[in-house]
Amino acid sequence: MLDRRLKQVVDYIPKGSVLADIGSDHAYVPCYAFQQGIISKGIAGEVNVGPMEAARAQVDLIGAGDTIDVRLGDGLAVLQPNEATCISICGMGGSLIRSILEAGQDKLGAVERLVLQPNVDGQHVRSWLLEHGYVLVEEAIVEENDKVYEILVGEKGTESIYSDESDERMWQLLFGPYLVQERPEAFKLKWSREADKLDYVLGQMAAGIQSEALIQKQVEFKRMRDKMREV
Ligand code: SAM
Repeated sequence: MLDRRLKQVVDYIPKGSVLADIGSDHAYVPCYAFQQGIISKGIAGEVNVGPMEAARAQVDLIGAGDTIDVRLGDGLAVLQPNEATCISICGMGGSLIRSILEAGQDKLGAVERLVLQPNVDGQHVRSWLLEHGYVLVEEAIVEENDKVYEILVGEKGTESIYSDESDERMWQLLFGPYLVQERPEAFKLKWSREADKLDYVLGQMAAGIQSEALIQKQVEFKRMRDKMREV
């Protein structure tokens, strides 16, 4: 049985998709999507040989070899232009997801939906979507085994869901424009933990030698910590 995090990811894959799951590891996402009859074709991309072999074994185990290709390569380089209609990238940091999308823009021509699950730094993914003509159409947050995961869904479009005011927009990118309104339990847990981490950092900073730059940083962190406590 797939875990809740990846099940939620699969729920966002449109029926009939040619799905590319990048950084697929055991290929659980394309395999589960295949078993649910969601995808017409799947590509499991992996940059490392061990996880690529795990993906191939899983695809063989469920008898999906005719539908799901397992490919070795970096990011979207495993795809042909206009091949995938949906791309999922899960279980990585937001900066890595962002850099994979940035480097593979020539493979996004036929993509109708991006399903992205950053483990940390979701703001980098949201800002990439905003800067590259994608609308964030849905957001989810899932708690599992004491960890909290965000899932972000982007589609081509220009409709702005963010504030015109730059300070407000920065907070929306950090917290998520939908999640900050809905404030589910997992969201509150995530941000109270992040605030605790900043409290710890601030305590360490206060104990060290003070400089103008450090004082500036402390002010910035306090502001961020207070906002995290507030949401
Ligand atoms: N997507 C799975 C999940 O969410 O459970 C696996 C996540 S695992 C933590 C991250 C995987 O991404 C690893 O198997 C790693 O080899 C792969 N990976 C990291 N950078 C990659 C890249 N640039 N291109 C393709 N795969 C990559």
